[in-house]
Parts: sequence; C-alpha cells; structure tokens
Amino acid sequence: MSANAKLFERAQHVIPGGVNSPVRAFRAVGGTPRFITRAQGAYLWDADGRRYIDYIGSWGPMILGHGHPAVLEAVQKAATDGFSFGAPTEREIELAEEILKFVPSAEQVRLVSSGTEAAMSAIRLARGATGRPRLIKFEGCYHGHADALLVKAGSGLATFGHPTSAGVPPEVVQHTLVLEYNNLAQLEAAFAEHGSELACVMIEPIAGNMNFVRAAVPFMKRLRELCTQHGALLVFDEVMTGFRVALGSAQSLYAQAIPGFAPDLSVFGKVIGGGMPLAAFAGPRAVMQQLAPLGPVYQAGTLSGNPVATACGLATLKEIQKPGFFDALAARTRSLVDGLLGAAQEAGVPMAGDCEGGMFGFFFGNELPQHYGAVMATDKDRFNRFFHAMLDGGVYLAPALYEAGFVSAAHTAEDIAATVEAARAALR
Ligand SMILES: *Cc1c(COP(=O)(O)O)cnc(C)c1O
Repeated sequence: MSANAKLFERAQHVIPGGVNSPVRAFRAVGGTPRFITRAQGAYLWDADGRRYIDYIGSWGPMILGHGHPAVLEAVQKAATDGFSFGAPTEREIELAEEILKFVPSAEQVRLVSSGTEAAMSAIRLARGATGRPRLIKFEGCYHGHADALLVKAGSGLATFGHPTSAGVPPEVVQHTLVLEYNNLAQLEAAFAEHGSELACVMIEPIAGNMNFVRAAVPFMKRLRELCTQHGALLVFDEVMTGFRVALGSAQSLYAQAIPGFAPDLSVFGKVIGGGMPLAAFAGPRAVMQQLAPLGPVYQAGTLSGNPVATACGLATLKEIQKPGFFDALAARTRSLVDGLLGAAQEAGVPMAGDCEGGMFGFFFGNELPQHYGAVMATDKDRFNRFFHAMLDGGVYLAPALYEAGFVSAAHTAEDIAATVEAARAALR
C-alpha cells in the first residue's frame, strides 16, 4: 500500500471524506489523493516521495511558485514579531494601499480571511447600501460557500433559485436569481422583471470555477449598462483572477475593451495572500463607509488582517509588480497551452484551450465553451483518463474538468517542455 493510500485511509477515520475541502478527495476523477509533504518552486512532493510539476498552485495563490525567498523571509520575520494581535497594524494599511494602487475602481478595502467571507460580505454590503434584497449570479461561477450562493437555477426563465446543498433552506436563496453565463437574452429578461429589486450582480469576469470561460465583451458591456440603469451594483469576484490574469486584474482587461468600464465592488483572495488565509473586498468610499464601525452593515473577523498573512501578501505583491513579470508569466502560460494543443492535434484528439496571464484552461472538445452547460458537455471520461496519465507522468493538474490551471513564475521552459512531453504520451 502506498503512503498516500495509507494516509487517505487514516484521514477518512477522523476527517469527513478524508479532506478539508471536497475537491481534494479526487471524487471527480477517482483514485487516491496525493498527500503533499513539501513544495519548492514549481514542484510538489507527495508522501511516497514522488515529485510533481504543480499546476494547481494551491488553487491560484502561489503565483511566485512555492518557497519564494523574499516571501519566506517576510513571513518568518512577521511570525517572529507575533502571530496575531487583534489590534490594527501598519502592515494592513500597506497592503490596502498596495491593492488599491492597482484597482482604480476602488478607494477603500477591507481585509478578511477567505474568499467565501469576502464574497459574502460584499453581498451584504451591496444589499445594505442599496436597501434591496435580490441578486443575480451565473451558473458555473463560484463565489465561496455562503448560503445565499449555494443555488442553482429555478425551472423558468428569470425565476429564483433552488439550494444546491442540504442545510440551506429555500427561503435563504429565494432572492438569488441564477442565469446562464454569457446569455444576453436572459440578462435582459431578468433586469426587465427584477431590475428595481436587485442589490447586485456578482460575476467571475473570467470564470475559473468552470475551467476557463471568459465573459464576452458585449455581454460585460451590457451588464454594466443594465446595472447602472437599474441602480444595482456590479460585483466582480476576482478571488481567482485578481493579480493573476494581469496586475490590474480582469477588470483592467475589460476597461481596455470597454471605455470607462469599472465594476462597483471587487472581491479578491488567493494571490493577495500569497498562500496565507487572506482575502478582501473593495469599492468606492461612499459604499465602503456603509460598513461597521462607520455604517449600518455589520462585518468583522478575529483574524482579519492577520500580521503574518499580510506580510506574505505584501511580499508577494511586491514581486509581481516588478517590470516584465506579467509579460514573462503570460508568455510561459501561453507556451504551455500551445504545447498542449499541439500535442492534442498530433494525437488527433479534439482539444480547445485558452489563457490569460498565469491562468489557463483546456477542454476535450472542438471549441471553447461559453457557459457551464457547454463545459459539462465536454468529454469527462477523456479528461479523467488524461488527468491520471499526467499524474502518473509527474504532472499535477486540477482533479476535475471544471477547474482552471495556474502557472507560476517558478515554472521554467524545461518544466513546460516536460509537461508537454507527458501530455504527448498521455494523449497517445
Ligand atoms: C476560491 C474562490 C472563492 C472562495 O475563496 P475561499 O478562500 O476558498 O473561500 C470565491 N470566488 C472565487 C472566484 C474563487 O475562485
């Protein structure tokens, strides 16, 4: 029995499903999850001592790779000075200033400990600031596991949703409308019927929780117009895309394509914590000042703005704003996607792929899906076999076809070449 299998068996006695977050259990692809013992640069090592090229990067945060010396030093120094004070620190100001430098749509930011918390708080703030109850989300977008967001579409067009988890009473999601991503007609219909009751629309601008699907520019443009017309806040969930697809996050890409474009609120996580529990939500001063202690919208956290986490985030942000960082990361990521597509073509396997900055996706199908239904219609069986062949070949991809992949600054041209070689063998 492998060390991984032994650990998995032991874990299942004391932890539900053996994991502390469900996708780690490999249920989608089958097999035994790898228990990771350490990581360095672009590599992970498992309990059996096997090395993998890591394309999960802790689901996005590790944009510099693992164990970057400057980040490590900042974290070690911060830990020496104290783990947590429950009182304000200068480093929180520094991190807020650093985030806002690259988010022109926002004037203030509040730090929290997880993306779930940030998205949940942003919705409460949107509801409090507008005095309205309802919100729109899109099928296939993930905004963490707050009750109001664990919802799937109702039966009719523009009807309210049903819970996707036990333990969420239907009343809790009765104000959440779920629409198809990139579906303009549904968006128009939803605003026509519910526009005046909508507090916000929450969207992943590049959806990384259904692999990699971009919101089309005309769709985003119309979404912005409708929100403005109807007084609903547009909330960009950039927990995954923030400081990952570009230094200005996904919103900078839409601002380039749509003159004057900006979301009302932004949600960040993952990269801004550099691998530590840290997330944030940000927006204009007038909206953010609705939060306690200034305003009536309650929000708090014992470990919010934790001194070790903020040190990690700050050190990470310092590295990624060095000149040329994103150009190099984007080129490396592009070379991976081109390599995978080339290998698939050689093997006669239909594959489509896309990337932006250090985030990528690929699909076993002829074209890039535009919404969740199309993602789930790609070849799952083939994905699962490919996943295991790659894992056996020393390449650690996300263990589900609906997850994005991540390249870090530590991935070398040799790592990419080795990955493409493994893909060639797997696709054969
Ligand atoms: C990861 C993620 C979240 C949830 O963040 P957690 O830190 O896991 O709670 C929310 N939104 C998006 C887009 C994410 O990718």
